[in-house]
Amino acid sequence: MNTEEPSNIVEYYIKAGEIAYRVKKSASRLVKPGVKILEVAESIERKIRELGGLPAFPVNISINEVAAHRTPYINDTEVIPDASAVKVDIGVHVNGYIADTAVTVVLDDKLIPLAEAARNALMKALKVIGPGVKFRDIGKTIETTARKAGFKVIKNLSGHSLGHYLIHSGEVIPNYNDPFILGRFRAGGAYAIEPFITTGKGMVKEVKGKVQIYSLKRTKGKPLNESEHKILSEIIQRFKTLPFCERWLADVGSTLDLRASLTSLAHKGYLNQYPVLVEIGGGLVTQFEETILITNDGAVIVTTNPEIHL
Ligand code: MN
Ligand code: MN
Repeated sequence: MNTEEPSNIVEYYIKAGEIAYRVKKSASRLVKPGVKILEVAESIERKIRELGGLPAFPVNISINEVAAHRTPYINDTEVIPDASAVKVDIGVHVNGYIADTAVTVVLDDKLIPLAEAARNALMKALKVIGPGVKFRDIGKTIETTARKAGFKVIKNLSGHSLGHYLIHSGEVIPNYNDPFILGRFRAGGAYAIEPFITTGKGMVKEVKGKVQIYSLKRTKGKPLNESEHKILSEIIQRFKTLPFCERWLADVGSTLDLRASLTSLAHKGYLNQYPVLVEIGGGLVTQFEETILITNDGAVIVTTNPEIHL
């Protein structure tokens, strides 16, 4: 049961948001052609810890047509290509209260309009958010902004409500005017708003067999061998219900064992898998994301410059 005072909860969100903001600012300095994504991810996750937070999920570094869920393996050799669009998606938590934020770094001036479309869509959405506002109206604002700029939104990626130790706590904030989404923003709620904009068809699909992010699903199920059992115990203890990756278990066993055990734990029903997501038409994808807290008369952006909170 969650027994925190509401004022403490706000404080934890603000602290997580401030750390996420500072780390996000460093991303554009780190993301350069020829740099390994492993180096970028490790540097960002190290900085989160130095500033007094914990990563709420592995840093996602998703390039060009890859929309999300790409985090480096142990010893990952992928480097950032020239002239690419690089999405850096960062989660920070303080006592389980999560700030989720993303930025797109473009390494060619030709990609600026695509990135600006995502940034503008987010800014416009944030201006209209408040208690009682319909989720689908935010989607409408985002889609209209993208279309005016000559691009599409990705319809099967969306914003979401945030819960204690939960990245997606059940509510969906669509990136278009989805008639099936009936919810409204509620005072006291925390939400992540994240337009994904593309030059492609406007949908993503999973890349089969390419899984770099997992989360705990159940703690009991089919019998486990010794190394699976050891890894599962570490997962429960270290990450609870938050997403994680093999890099965060590098000290538990050899890399090959670890990867095989994670796959078999997933097949035996203990873990959720989050495969890499790519745009179905191979279009370039940009994304910006902020976390907000809904107040009685508006919204506070927690993942922006903390000076604004003063
Ligand atoms: Mn995110
Ligand atoms: Mn998110």
